[in-house]
Order: sequence, then structure tokens, then C-alpha cells
Amino acid sequence: MRRAVTGTPALRRLADRFVAGETLDQAVASTTGLVDRGLHVTIDHLGEDTLDAADAAATRDAYLALLGQLTDLGLSGQVEVSVKLSALGQKLATDAEQVTLANAVAICEAARVAGTTVTVDMEDHTTVDATLGTVRDLRGEYPWVGAVLQSCLRRTEADCADLSTAGSRVRLVKGAYAEPASVAHPAKRDVDLAYVRCMRTLMASKAYPMIATHDLRMVEIAESLGTELGREPGSYEFQMLYGIRAAEQRDLAARDHLVRVYLPYGEDWYGYFMRRLAERPANLAFFARSLFSR
Ligand code: FAD
Repeated sequence: MRRAVTGTPALRRLADRFVAGETLDQAVASTTGLVDRGLHVTIDHLGEDTLDAADAAATRDAYLALLGQLTDLGLSGQVEVSVKLSALGQKLATDAEQVTLANAVAICEAARVAGTTVTVDMEDHTTVDATLGTVRDLRGEYPWVGAVLQSCLRRTEADCADLSTAGSRVRLVKGAYAEPASVAHPAKRDVDLAYVRCMRTLMASKAYPMIATHDLRMVEIAESLGTELGREPGSYEFQMLYGIRAAEQRDLAARDHLVRVYLPYGEDWYGYFMRRLAERPANLAFFARSLFSR
């Protein structure tokens, strides 16, 4: 499937809607365009589920180069980075925890020098304990490291209460991974209701909520909660993915909200692209037509 998808020109073009390019230069060019339009950005160097320590080191080095570029271009005020721990070594057969932490520390140190922040993406439910553990370790030295919580998981409301501490940067998402009913709400309505409850917990606390969704009902509720709880625009932010709801991103920014676009780049775009397709039936139908009409 991976070979068929990455080798099909129509699908590569479809991927361009969600991925800013394969090279650092392409990512920086797209980032600059967004920043010029008043948006903030978090850049993800694509890659996940690395089983080789050399690949994990290469991912770390890609982030170090990226952070160096952001500094040189004067973009680090508006642009941070997002990292997946499975790309930094979380699934290695030996010394996974130590290798991951060392790679993540190197990235955080470069972000500190650049004057920006790092958010640690959340992957499937089997990784949540390890990922939150690494975030906790990183926050000892780098308190601005962001965590991600997925409202689809039954455990998340408790995690959300734990993470709702002063200054804690928390990105709230619905969750992009197919999860079993033993750990996740099977009904979308329950995922949405949990999202609202988590938003309230975060917004009512002294944490820094990062409301990451394209669901305009959630955006509206976040704005109402912000007003009800006396939060100033800028004391929380909205986040959306590159290529999705661009007009709404600009509308929100025009209403004085801080809006951050999650911008992925790199050669390993297959997993990210497939998750974006799976989220929306219309994308899947287009995908099937492109694959079988080649
Ligand atoms: P939904 O109810 O799924 O969608 C609402 C509406 O948004 C849809 O009706 C549709 O109009 C539009 N929409 C949603 N998805 C698409 C799409 N792919 N293509 C076109 N239109 C779409 N998930 C994780 O598990 N871990 C993470 O670390 C993570 N980080 C994220 C960072 C950001 C900034 C964002 C915005 C999302 C992130 N996600 C992450 C993905 C998230 O979990 C959801 O899978 C994704 O955002 C879709 O959910 P939704 O909140 O937009 O709501």
C-alpha cells in the first residue's frame, strides 16, 4: 500500500494539500507565507515508528537544522516545532527510553537557544504513559514543553486534570488513531462531549490551552468559555492543520486570536497522509478514485 500510494502521481498531488513539501526549504517557504498572513506555525518533521537508532539521530539532526534556520530567519517568535517520540527512538529494541530522552533534550536545548518551544505529539494509546512520562522529565528543565491529550481516550479527562497546572501548555485534540473500545469512546458524540469537558477544565485553570480542532462548534464553545472565564485572547490559542480550513484560520486570527498552523514536511509523509484521509469520508472517496484510475 505504501509503495502504491507514494508512487501514484495523483496521490502525491493530493498529499501536497496536507504536506508542505519534502525539503526544509519548502517547509520554510510555506511557513514564511503563513507568518506573513499573521499566523503562527508549529513545524513537524515527518517520521514515526523508527526502529533504528541512526534514523532517530537523523530525525533529531533534522530538527536541529530546522531550529537553526528559524533563528537565522528571525521566525522563532512565531514558529515552534512538534515532535513525535516514536521518531526519536521510543520503539527501539534497546535503551528506548534513554535514547528518546537524549534526542528530545537535544531538540529542547536547541529550541531554548532559538527562543521558541517544543510540543510533543501524542501517538496511539500504547504510548501515552511513556510519552507523558518523557514530557514530565523534559519539563523539569524546559517547563514550556507542550503535551497533547486526545479526548477519544477514556483516561484523558484524568490526564487533563493532572496537566491543568499554571503555565502548562496542553494541546487538546480528538485523536487521530483507530483505538479499541476498551480504551477509547467508540461513539463520536462521546469523543466530542469529552472534548468539551476537557476544554472547560483547561480553560478554567491557569494552563495554556491549545485548542486544536477544525470542528467549528468546538471553536465557538472555546470562544464562549474564554469570555465566560475571563480569558484574554492570547491566553490560549487555536490550532489547525496545514491545508484544512485555511479561511477559518484567517478569520480567527482577524478576531485577534493566536492561531497556529501545524505544518508537516519531509519525505516520510505516508502515515500522516493516511490519517488525514481516514478522518474524512470525502477524502477517502477521492483517494480510492485516484488509486484505481492510475
Ligand atoms: P472532526 O469532528 O473530525 O472534524 C470536524 C470537521 O473538520 C470535519 O467535518 C471536516 O469539515 C473538517 N476536517 C477534519 N479533518 C479533516 C481532514 N482530514 N480533511 C478535511 N477536512 C477535515 N491527533 C493525535 O492523535 N495526536 C496529535 O498529536 C495530534 N496533533 C494535532 C495537531 C493539530 C494542530 C490538529 C488540528 C490536530 C491534531 N491531531 C492530532 C489530529 C486530531 O486528533 C484529529 O484527528 C483531527 O484534528 C480531526 O478532528 P477535528 O477536531 O478536526 O474534528
